[in-house]
Amino acid sequence: MDLFEYQGRAEFARFGLPVPPGGIADDVETAVKVAEESGYPVVIKAQVQVGGRGKAGGVKLAENADEVRLHAGNILGMDIKGHVVHRLFVANAADIAEEYYASYTLDRTAKMHLLMLSAEGGVEIEEVAVTNPEAIVKLHINPVDGISLEAARQACVDAKLNPAAVDQAAAVLVQLYRCFTEGDCDLAEINPLVLTPQGKVLALDAKVSLDENAMFRHPEWAEYEATVVRDAREHLAHDKGLQYIGLEGSVGIIANGAGLAMSTLDVVNQVGGSAANFLDIGGGANADVMTGALEVINTDAAVKSIFINIFGGITRGEEVAKGIVEALKRVTLNSPIVIRLDGTNAEEGRQILLDAGIAADKLISKPTMLEAARAAVELAKR
Ligand code: GDP
Ligand code: MN
Repeated sequence: MDLFEYQGRAEFARFGLPVPPGGIADDVETAVKVAEESGYPVVIKAQVQVGGRGKAGGVKLAENADEVRLHAGNILGMDIKGHVVHRLFVANAADIAEEYYASYTLDRTAKMHLLMLSAEGGVEIEEVAVTNPEAIVKLHINPVDGISLEAARQACVDAKLNPAAVDQAAAVLVQLYRCFTEGDCDLAEINPLVLTPQGKVLALDAKVSLDENAMFRHPEWAEYEATVVRDAREHLAHDKGLQYIGLEGSVGIIANGAGLAMSTLDVVNQVGGSAANFLDIGGGANADVMTGALEVINTDAAVKSIFINIFGGITRGEEVAKGIVEALKRVTLNSPIVIRLDGTNAEEGRQILLDAGIAADKLISKPTMLEAARAAVELAKR
């Protein structure tokens, strides 16, 4: 779950990181109020979940209430890379001498946490990685040991941070690591981490993504959950407890298992089509789940065909087939289904579908994933 900057800052603050205090505003006059409380100059920042807000004009400094009104008025409603700004973050502005970059992620291949640190902050790190890769210090951290203050300090020296920043930046790296691990983040990134002319180190941006597998031990995340940006289809799917992500194409996808669902998107793409969604029904291919899945896909006007791709393992073919037959009694579909049913008890499943007497142009069975993808894409193009 990706957080907005102001939420990421709240997570940082919980772990003692130096974040300048500020507040959110959804309208101009609230922005002025927060600015007066924070003290001028203030920085006004668009709260959208996309990078490069600064370059897009979504981050502005203001010296007084009139300037706050001007900038807040301009930024609210602004479209930044397809994200419309509904909320601002306003805080006392820091003076900046130098801008650094710091982040923790999980390196799955190495089975370790990864610190990335650079003295070339402020710009997007992907850019630094291309133009000046040696400016990024990478340090793998064994999750059993964590990162010591000494190791953090050495990383700061290796990254050639200003000596005046090293002690404070090292402390920040230790705090950020705690935030990342104890706070159950997939990503905790500060860009920029700044050194002020007065010699203080501050975190001026927060990019935090939470690991939703840890949701059960964070009742306080309900607040973040409430602001997750979803389209109408995703809302419906979420209410039905489905693992669904809306996409732009015309072939609705239902698969069991995230890996198979991803491969299904790839195969549809490979044969010249495009998927309308990602949907993993997991092991629960019963009538309720199948009905929910078909209902969500059926609300999507862009969908022209539905590709159900099931490889039975623990999920048995005849259960899936019964689920589909039952679901089709409950939902009237706008598009035909192409199904590929394989694996455990697939034969029985196919027989159940045949015996159900569903019209031949409503449900088409194909023996392989590739043939099914071709058929679904062809139907979608008609
Ligand atoms: P992003 O462009 O979406 O990553 O947004 P940031 O929060 O990183 O802000 C972009 C840039 O605005 C930063 O790199 C800074 O140069 C500048 N900026 C942000 N906060 C402040 C601040 O408090 N004071 C000053 N002077 N500049 C700031
Ligand atoms: Mn930033």
